Amino acid sequence: MSLKKKPRKKNKKNKILAKNNSSVLKKRGFQAVRGMHDLLAKDWLYYEWIYNNAKKILEFGGFSRIETPILERADLFMEGVGKNTDLAGKEMYFLKTKEEKELLALRPEGTASLARAYLENGMVNLPQPIKLYYFGPFFRHEKPQAGRYRQFYQLGAEIIGEGDFSSDVSIILIAKQILEALGFSWKNIRLSLNSIGCQKCRPNYLRALKKHYRFYKKKICSNCSLRLKNNPLRVLDCKDEKCLEVKNSVPPFLDYLCDDCRSHFKGVLELLDYLEIPYFLDKTLVRGFDYYTKTVFEFYLENEEKNLALAGGGRYDRLVELLGGPKRPAIGMAFGVDRLVEELKKKGKILKLPQPKVFLVQIGEMAKKQSFKLLEKFREENIAIGESLGKESLGSQLNTANKLGIKYTLIFGQQEVLDGMVILKDMDSGIQETIPLDKIVEEVKKRLKQNQ
Ligand SMILES: [Zn+2]
Ligand SMILES: [Zn+2]
Repeated sequence: MSLKKKPRKKNKKNKILAKNNSSVLKKRGFQAVRGMHDLLAKDWLYYEWIYNNAKKILEFGGFSRIETPILERADLFMEGVGKNTDLAGKEMYFLKTKEEKELLALRPEGTASLARAYLENGMVNLPQPIKLYYFGPFFRHEKPQAGRYRQFYQLGAEIIGEGDFSSDVSIILIAKQILEALGFSWKNIRLSLNSIGCQKCRPNYLRALKKHYRFYKKKICSNCSLRLKNNPLRVLDCKDEKCLEVKNSVPPFLDYLCDDCRSHFKGVLELLDYLEIPYFLDKTLVRGFDYYTKTVFEFYLENEEKNLALAGGGRYDRLVELLGGPKRPAIGMAFGVDRLVEELKKKGKILKLPQPKVFLVQIGEMAKKQSFKLLEKFREENIAIGESLGKESLGSQLNTANKLGIKYTLIFGQQEVLDGMVILKDMDSGIQETIPLDKIVEEVKKRLKQNQ
């Protein structure tokens, strides 16, 4: 009876403590910045698992890892992503230091940085294409929502220096393989595709789009009225109910593609057909940044409530040129890792922190000192072993071992040090044996193997 009551009391006390701590933090203004959050070990496990799965597929596909700085000159994104996009307009985090004359920005996306790195590191002179992948935090000052953060993680891949439609399919295929490796069933995944043309054919389409919207001028949302002036393609991104009707009746871009864009897109679709990869043509699919050309795509998780975008990408044939380089067509894609984590958890994917199966209990000064050497031996044999070297009493150390669900405890006291022995205790049966110190690692290894 008392056993049941005790932990409850303790939990309550802990809760009060936690509450007090957070209110102290609040008073001093030291909570995490709005829209940002801590990732604890139990969460980070999922990020790592996703990364490791993707890494295998990407490296097999010839992609190599690149790590670009989190800070870049702001104009890299202004030029690359486009001045009239939401991203450059209101979602970037700018910063300035005393030394820097230029305005800096926390990277809001990965592609512009990669294109810069491609030019700056002379990759432009290597055999093309260059295949790169990245993983890390990005920053956008968006309205915080459930599962959407202002510091978010992306995992992306780019093929730079190849304009052929086959690289569009390669990148789509890589994204598909990664989703499958993460355990998403192809039955619930939807690949949407569109082409948003090139510099040559886009003006014709934008004219047609504006003409179409002219009839609905008074019906559409204020955002769309603004977009029609500054960045007309973005009206197709509008989620406002008011704009749905006009959006769904737009003419498809495919009818306005130039010969080059049309044959490119045809190549993509035919190859996907040949590979039996199902897709949907979505005439309202556009990507928010100016650098996108031709193929754009998104992978959705089909959900009862609404479809969730898990990954997206597209071709950006002009970006390297826009940054001052030679003509180098390219294509890329990125996953929103935070959403992948959320969906994996919803699907019941369980990842647990590894727990040691052995725990070292030490009593007395000599044993404490020698414990360091003993722990080192276990580490050399790659056997995870827990300890609480800071504690002194046998009871509190055994208590810790119990809470961790440890199978074997080693008890190392004054007498054992003198005898060159250690006590091995099976925590389930309670049986204790005394084992020579120089045999203990082998003995534990043997028993762990038997228990597997
Ligand atoms: Zn075109
Ligand atoms: Zn709208």
